[in-house]
Amino acid sequence: MAKTALITGASRGIGRAAAVLFGAKGYNVIVNYASSAKKAEEVCEIINSAGGSALPFCADVSDRGAVNAMTAFAEEKFGGVDVLVNNAGIAEQIMFCDITEEKWDRMFDVDVKGVYNCTQSVLPHMVHNKFGRIINVSSMWGITGASCEVHYSAAKAAVIGFTKALAKELGPSGITVNAVAPGVIATEMNGMLDEETMAVLKEETPLERIGTPEDVAEAVFFLASDKASFITGETVSVNGGFVI
Ligand code: NAP
Repeated sequence: MAKTALITGASRGIGRAAAVLFGAKGYNVIVNYASSAKKAEEVCEIINSAGGSALPFCADVSDRGAVNAMTAFAEEKFGGVDVLVNNAGIAEQIMFCDITEEKWDRMFDVDVKGVYNCTQSVLPHMVHNKFGRIINVSSMWGITGASCEVHYSAAKAAVIGFTKALAKELGPSGITVNAVAPGVIATEMNGMLDEETMAVLKEETPLERIGTPEDVAEAVFFLASDKASFITGETVSVNGGFVI
């Protein structure tokens, strides 16, 4: 029977590329999104027209009720979630002194509590099956810290701590928990960076290019595969050597 992957934030960017890849490889895919309904439907259309099986689901990952409804939907349609890709995220460039409490809380609600919500929600099915793959999308800034992105860097560092701790707890249940830490990837998240900044970032990258969503999707897919069955608690950098 086909496995099911729930990919959060799959309407655009890295999540979209992951959804298309999992769909092409025969997974049932739940394409989660927060507001881009049309884009999520397009992703499903790409997967379904190629013979795969994908359904969109709108849920703000910071809202536990909405997340539980998404898990129930996945169970009803596909029998439960075998692979969870916690990809949904927001980013913001702002001086530390200008981060209001509201901005701080929103960053942690989406980028950290969203991971907690989705993971806890799908876990009973994985524990019952003694099988599961959880892949969390962190960031290289969660490893090194980024100036003017303190709340984002702190949230992404939290995701790495979460990954390590949960990997230890869930190992005996046959569930692996890993993270990927992308570098600079060409998505709308970097839309605020001007051409000059992107050129500098490219120059600072040993592999001399900006990453693609597909670069990250391939690493996520590998961590979900049987080939990665003895890897857990790891953070895989996908950054072209930007941070080594
Ligand atoms: P993106 O193009 O901005 O797409 C973000 C995705 O997350 C969209 O599908 C969006 O849905 C969804 N999303 C945002 N808030 C959500 C919420 N509260 N609930 C559910 N879904 C939500 O971003 P991306 O660049 O692909 O980033 C994906 C992940 O990679 C993020 O965790 C990001 O921090 C991480 N990352 C990105 C880079 C990079 O350079 N791009 C580098 C390192 C790490 P809607 O379309 O409905 O808004």
